[in-house]
Amino acid sequence: MIRHVLAMHVPVWGRALNLPLNLEDLAASGFAASSRDGVALQGASGPPAVAITFDDGPHPEGTPRILEVLAEFDVRATFFVVGEQVAKRPALTRLILDQGHVIGLHGHQHRPHPLRRAADMDADFARGLAAIEDATGSTPRLHRPPFGIYSPTSLRLARERGLQPLLWSKWGRDWRKMATPEEITARVVTGIRAGDVVLLHDADYYSARCSHRRTAAALPTILKLVGSAGFGTVAYA
Ligand SMILES: [Zn+2]
Repeated sequence: MIRHVLAMHVPVWGRALNLPLNLEDLAASGFAASSRDGVALQGASGPPAVAITFDDGPHPEGTPRILEVLAEFDVRATFFVVGEQVAKRPALTRLILDQGHVIGLHGHQHRPHPLRRAADMDADFARGLAAIEDATGSTPRLHRPPFGIYSPTSLRLARERGLQPLLWSKWGRDWRKMATPEEITARVVTGIRAGDVVLLHDADYYSARCSHRRTAAALPTILKLVGSAGFGTVAYA
């Protein structure tokens, strides 16, 4: 059912290319979780797990607030960061890793891949990865393109660089001006099931102003309800 609903929203390219939307797909794609850099797997041997992910950061207000809530609930998450923001805030980027979370690449600039030329796209991957490596000393393994949309070229480039695509199976639609914490929560938790990958945002650079405040306000309830539904949370390094 969720997949049918998502079919209207998740980019056609992603579905047509059979890209991972949830943890089951991710495992089927051959992605092996590791515990390198001291990032352990939560939920690996525990209850059925879901993954909580945040795109578009790091952001000086949104990211620390989200990190606080995650720490309060002892939950590890994945942050798909934007290189141009990482370059401005390397210490905040390191903090994400230091607090036990995982960093993935969202791109250097937040621009739709299908509108970009191959050389421009290749440079974007290189710059985004370099920004993360400069800030943290480690290289991400996961990638999620802006808007969840790959072009055939950008997908090839991601794979050539050893990056594993990961889209999502649930979202809060938290980037919109009209989103409320209650609505974000309901969208995430209604019908949530094992293996779901949840998309949220810790920054408002590319979305409605201060949208991260609504996300942060929703997050405690989301994590409470996910926990009481019997799910652990997982972040794959
Ligand atoms: Zn984004």
